[in-house]
Amino acid sequence: MPLLVMKFGGTSVGGLGRIRNAAEKVRREVARGYDVIVIVSAMSGKTNELVDWVEKTSPFFDAREYDAVVSSGENVTAGLMALTLQEMDVPARSWQGWQVPLQTTSAHSAARILDIPRANIDAKFTEGMRVAVIAGFQGISPEGRITTLGRGGSDTTAVAFAAAFGAERCDIYTDVDGVYTTDPRIEDKARKLDRIAFEEMLELASLGAKVLQTRSVELAMRFNVRLRVLSSFEDNDENSGTLVCPEEDIMESNVVSGIAYSRDEAKMTLISVADRPGIAAAIFGPLAEAGVNVDMIVQNISEEGHTDMTFSCPVGQVARADKAMQAARLRGDINFNDLVADKEVAKVSVVGIGMRSHAGVASQMFKALAAEGINIKVITTSEIKISVLIDRKYMELAVQALHDAFGLDKAA
Ligand code: ASP
Ligand code: MG
Repeated sequence: MPLLVMKFGGTSVGGLGRIRNAAEKVRREVARGYDVIVIVSAMSGKTNELVDWVEKTSPFFDAREYDAVVSSGENVTAGLMALTLQEMDVPARSWQGWQVPLQTTSAHSAARILDIPRANIDAKFTEGMRVAVIAGFQGISPEGRITTLGRGGSDTTAVAFAAAFGAERCDIYTDVDGVYTTDPRIEDKARKLDRIAFEEMLELASLGAKVLQTRSVELAMRFNVRLRVLSSFEDNDENSGTLVCPEEDIMESNVVSGIAYSRDEAKMTLISVADRPGIAAAIFGPLAEAGVNVDMIVQNISEEGHTDMTFSCPVGQVARADKAMQAARLRGDINFNDLVADKEVAKVSVVGIGMRSHAGVASQMFKALAAEGINIKVITTSEIKISVLIDRKYMELAVQALHDAFGLDKAA
């Protein structure tokens, strides 16, 4: 029988009524002739509560016990979903990660999936079960301990199951009806995209469009899983939502497909470091060891053997970065006159595969920002993305101006 994967996020299962609503969508697909693998998140807010309980109990917690606790939210929704389906006369049962078993690495709280053996679930489908309900976000390590896949990890569970079972499609049900050209809360002319290429989605996901966990998009791209994002609070048909798909499946698109932003950034500049071989390694090595997620890096022009080095990181990591740099200076590994932190910046990015074949996107972007009097502090580019750091207070304005400048309110 053809197989679908349907994943329901936290708000889609955030109460018994909502679970019933989700189960009804599953029942309809079964009636159409599909076997279904359902992946569920914990009820909205549950995982946050569990994380909070762990942190209050033990500030320097044992990561294995953290996973034992925070994975439990999904156990509840998986069982309730199976029960709800049974009440609708749909043959269903639930599976926790370890029962599948969904095998992962031992990297607790950020484990990676190693394998999903099909035998146990396939055997039940053969016996007449129509829906396998899987607790998302969790697995089992080679040591036999419960693991979790990182926040938002149920998306990755869903894509991994779709790949392992050769599903026709992986439908991600959430509280929005698709992927938008930008955040509709900032720009009311934001438009839902019918299709978006894997690579674009990857950029948007990692830039903070929180619809999908970045890793789930990577996995979908690698295994060519057709991924669809759609609302669990609407009646959907074949064309609902946004399809995340290979570039070749998109006939026409705008040069720029979306505008992403990241609000809580900081810009740090090491003033006057020696410009010599090994200096970048001496700076960014300790930052990595301190767990600072460095994003943009700019090395400025060198004068008399000295240069300024600028990087950006999440604003919450400034203290950690500062400590790592002062320690490196004390050890004599680097030298600098001053370390200046600007904690009032945000990142705004334009993304689109069309940039590969179209010149002039950067200048169009800079003109639009200039017209609003917005100063650019740092610029970085990749093949399909241009990002700028600007003052945080202009972030909304920048998103709106760029959305307008690239005509994103209209389809290609
Ligand atoms: N419940 C987990 C979280 O909130 C996993 C997920 O929902 O994807 O991060
Ligand atoms: Mg999510």
